[in-house]
Amino acid sequence: MSKSLQAIRGMNDILPDQTPVWRYVEGKVSRLLDNYGYKQIRMPIVEFTELFKRSIGEVTDIVEKEMYTFEDRNGDSLTLRPEGTAACVRAVLEHGITGGGQVQKLWYIGPMFRHERPQKGRYRQFHQIGVEVFNLDGPDIDAELIVLTWRLWGELGIRDAVKLELNSLGTSEARARYRAALVQYLSSRLGELDEDSQRRLKSNPLRVLDTKNADTQAVLVDAPKLVDYLDEESRVHFEGLKARLDAAGIPYVINPKLVRGLDYYSKTVFEWVTDKLGAQGTVCAGGRYDGLVEQMGGKPTTGVGFAMGIERLILLVETLEQIPQELARQVDVYLCAFGEAAELAALALSERVRDQLPNLRLQINAGAGSFKSQFKKADKSGALYALILGDDELAQQVVGVKPLRGQGEQQTIAWDALAEHLATCVVQG
Ligand code: ATP
Ligand code: MG
Repeated sequence: MSKSLQAIRGMNDILPDQTPVWRYVEGKVSRLLDNYGYKQIRMPIVEFTELFKRSIGEVTDIVEKEMYTFEDRNGDSLTLRPEGTAACVRAVLEHGITGGGQVQKLWYIGPMFRHERPQKGRYRQFHQIGVEVFNLDGPDIDAELIVLTWRLWGELGIRDAVKLELNSLGTSEARARYRAALVQYLSSRLGELDEDSQRRLKSNPLRVLDTKNADTQAVLVDAPKLVDYLDEESRVHFEGLKARLDAAGIPYVINPKLVRGLDYYSKTVFEWVTDKLGAQGTVCAGGRYDGLVEQMGGKPTTGVGFAMGIERLILLVETLEQIPQELARQVDVYLCAFGEAAELAALALSERVRDQLPNLRLQINAGAGSFKSQFKKADKSGALYALILGDDELAQQVVGVKPLRGQGEQQTIAWDALAEHLATCVVQG
């Protein structure tokens, strides 16, 4: 027997019993973003490798060790996108839709690919919903992004389990001055740093700040603080953001060590974190990247955005038992028919009912079967009612409407009155 084929490690099938919660979460997010005036954009899943090297940065974890990169048949180096911002910036530039200061409030959804060690909340193919805003540079829009995620957490019932962490990285000049001071300090205590931090000190010194190593953390206690190096413009921006979050009643903590993994951030950075998912605690992360568009060859164009991991969001909704009960039921009524003539009438009748009740979830029995077996299937489907159409019902042009969840007695309803009857007794999603 040949070896059975398997999916790639860390790349998951989302099976039929899981898709309702995916569609529920995706539906909530897309409706919310519509309501705040964001427009969806769809980019390819594969881009030239160069795009990610230039935007994310050569010495980031993603580019150094997480990308799925391959040569295509033309010899071009291509990469499965590890995140969405780079491609989004590429797309707006390529199509000129941020030119002349045009504001764009965009969002996207889709799979991302990173070669990481798979574990709960961390996969090699995972899904993000991302939002990017171009040409708005004030703290009001940073605040809006946070406010709308806060609303989403409320709608999903997970608000109490997430915490907002906030920091400002300043302008790139301020960050460069800080970086120099940090490197000087850490170099003076090089021997006390863990190996990974020693390496980062050369490649990406700010990332030493989010080390998990206790010895290095101890060294960091006396390190220069980013906030002391903030330029006036960034300081005012950050104060503006905090004032707006206070006005909206959104709690936050300032985390001076929050630097984010990507090179391109400036000013605001934030993360929504939870302690309910173990080590994979960040459900949503983002920040401002005012220099990125220019760095990628465009005219100076400010940007700010975030991305949330859908798997982690769903894990959180599940852990907190916030999946709405209605999701469990996918069928409203199940139509059973007995005998060829009744089956034909049932098909015609069900199509008429669908015309009248487009939202009704009506499943018609397929594969015939005895009374007993069809009822069993009707019950298993989760339907509220079974509709029964046999020879007697056919002769009288009626159906039996049998409640399956203990809601009263069976009734006999004329075909012509069926849609109206179902409209009164089935709550339609
Ligand atoms: P982490 O620190 O957990 O690796 P990150 O900083 O690399 O996260 P981002 O690039 O900011 O993550 O991506 C935004 C969000 O996408 C994360 O907050 C998380 O919810 C989700 N995410 C990132 N990588 C993965 C992954 N490998 N599997 C599942 N979700 C992920
Ligand atoms: Mg990561």
